[in-house]
Amino acid sequence: MQTDNSIYNTRGRIFDIQKFSVHDGPGIRTIIFLKGCVLRCRWCCNPESQNWEIETMLQNGVKKVIGYETTVAEVMKTVLQDKPYYRRSGGGVTLSGGETLCQPEFARALFTACHENGVNTAIETTLCAEWDVIEPFLPLIDTFLVDIKHMDSEKHREFTTQPNELIHENIKKLAHAGANLIVRVPVIPTFNDTPKELHDIAVFAYEELGVREMHILPYHRLGYDKYIGLGRDYPMGDLPSPDKDKMEMLRRICASTGIICHIGG
Ligand code: SF4
Repeated sequence: MQTDNSIYNTRGRIFDIQKFSVHDGPGIRTIIFLKGCVLRCRWCCNPESQNWEIETMLQNGVKKVIGYETTVAEVMKTVLQDKPYYRRSGGGVTLSGGETLCQPEFARALFTACHENGVNTAIETTLCAEWDVIEPFLPLIDTFLVDIKHMDSEKHREFTTQPNELIHENIKKLAHAGANLIVRVPVIPTFNDTPKELHDIAVFAYEELGVREMHILPYHRLGYDKYIGLGRDYPMGDLPSPDKDKMEMLRRICASTGIICHIGG
């Protein structure tokens, strides 16, 4: 690995590195979780990712510091430990969050280092950023995992704090630029868990964007303890997760448009 240029000295703020993931892009992957997000989705299962500030969270009664400064060189040391697994499985590295695009310089440097070392790249992103920030990533990313959460902008804003126009414009630009896109839809009760909404999203993805693959992700309550550990209220109250039958019904509705639709990542 090269260590003598500015790419490898680029600094960023992350809060976790998860190895051997099989849910966030093709093959076996290492997921780098970056700190900071522009959205505040009510269902977010990583509330510790949202604030840029380094903070403390109670975990099983023990204080845990969330977030630390690092460099591309330090992250790459961990990433390259699993290179044989990436090679055998078609895997690589996924940058997640939080929102990767909140730290564009660090993210670009990290993706560049991955490609210099023959490591496949993916990003999980909201695309809630100016196109000038997104465009330089095009040659650096092998797979874009992008959410389409709701087709109605006001409903989108109500549940995430941000409207959807900029996000949808950016996903159209990515599609037209030929990016390899996988659309993901978190299926959230009282927000978008209806046949009509899922159908409309699938039509937008398949017919307007030309996307071939879509993942629908059932809402879960695994983030509950984190909110309590951060001293915050859990925004989703006691709403239950959609059951298997409902997810399968929604999957079929999406697939009826022609798109390949899977439940889960
Ligand atoms: S975009 Fe992702 S990380 Fe940001 S608030 Fe929403 S679910 Fe959480």
